[in-house]
Amino acid sequence: MIEYRHYESGKTTVVTTECALCGTPIRDQQGIQDHLPSCPAREIYAERGALRDGGPDPERVRAAIAFHEADETPTLAADGGPEVSR
Ligand SMILES: [Zn+2]
Repeated sequence: MIEYRHYESGKTTVVTTECALCGTPIRDQQGIQDHLPSCPAREIYAERGALRDGGPDPERVRAAIAFHEADETPTLAADGGPEVSR
């Protein structure tokens, strides 16, 4: 998802709120450029011809994301919420 964000200063920017490939929410302090290098779906989309016929097999994308999440540090909140204090 990409949306406009309007600031009180009158400035408007376009921000990415969610990765278009894997659906991971992108935090405000983070950018899509910070997420993409570790995007679990990136390699599938990078394959030759991946975007033909409506894109890659959703099952493969889901499997890659599930594998990635299992690998993720549990203390890092996926929704960008408060981190678990230790
Ligand atoms: Zn992603």
